Amino acid sequence: MIIQLEQGISSQEANKIRDKVNSLGFKTTDVITQRCKYIIGIGKKEIDIRQLGGMAGVSDVHRVSDAYKLVSRKWRVKPTEIDLGDGVVIREGDFAMMAGPCSIESEEQIVQVLEHLNANGVRIMRGGVYKPRSSPYSFRGLGIDGLKLWHEHAQTYGIKIITEVMQSSQIEDLCKYADILQVGARNSQNFNLLDALGEVDKPVLLKRGISGSLSELLQCAEYVFSGGNEKLMLCERGIRTYETAYRNTFDLNAIPILKEKTHLPVIADPSHGIGVRAYVEPVALAAVMAGADGMIYETHCTPEKAFSDGQQTLDFRESEALIKKTRATFELRKSF
Ligand code: PEP
Ligand code: MN
Repeated sequence: MIIQLEQGISSQEANKIRDKVNSLGFKTTDVITQRCKYIIGIGKKEIDIRQLGGMAGVSDVHRVSDAYKLVSRKWRVKPTEIDLGDGVVIREGDFAMMAGPCSIESEEQIVQVLEHLNANGVRIMRGGVYKPRSSPYSFRGLGIDGLKLWHEHAQTYGIKIITEVMQSSQIEDLCKYADILQVGARNSQNFNLLDALGEVDKPVLLKRGISGSLSELLQCAEYVFSGGNEKLMLCERGIRTYETAYRNTFDLNAIPILKEKTHLPVIADPSHGIGVRAYVEPVALAAVMAGADGMIYETHCTPEKAFSDGQQTLDFRESEALIKKTRATFELRKSF
């Protein structure tokens, strides 16, 4: 159960509501986000919610039986919008494009990608400066100095930055230079990191775990939301299956299902989703038709020379073709 509180509620009123909810057999948790104050009631009892709805300080009461509550679409029917400023908004009804290299490698590479995105009207650039790698001997990113350099150049193009956060100690510095913090598949269930991201006022893109179920993904999102941060979106990036013909199995099914279950924007990552450059485009276009609110994919001037994930990275010609076809596909979807 979600009890939405009035903004100006007094502590006495909040105490009374909490006591009442407890007396009805529910455990309570207080949640304060950028937008609202809530009391979450956890329990199995069937109650008449009008008993709470009439109390001073309560603005609304919603019954949500799912394990995840605040991220559920059952109580908030209006889809969440993520406003990055300068007219860049991620929302249902638009299609957000985010593109860039797997890893930030050099100043030259940053500028090449920014030029490419700018020429094609893409307003959000992706790139890792902290890279989770299977081998400790692989390139692990340029760190915060790489992000500072990237930020300087990105600002001159008015292009926003999404980059991965791997641990809580990186959050403060990343928040100074990035517009969206990405939680990678390997950290999807790092609950300490999710708790810490709940405390910041910065949009978060949460990726599905390597073998994470949709329910787990939604409960991970609930950690961030209930920690206080409503600026959240989800990303389908493929899961590990028995198939060996490609890197991951992009779960197209996840997109309409997530869209039905949550009010958060749903973003597709076809690059990690299939992991093979030649097949990124068809998967990406299928994700558009399936109802995604945006896409994040990898592009690089010379993918064969990329420091990481070159095998799934589009060159600029392929990237430009994908951008055009994505826009055309999105128009087609809107026309239905
Ligand atoms: C990435 O975006 O480069 C990345 C490492 O993604 P994932 O966490 O989905 O593997
Ligand atoms: Mn990658």
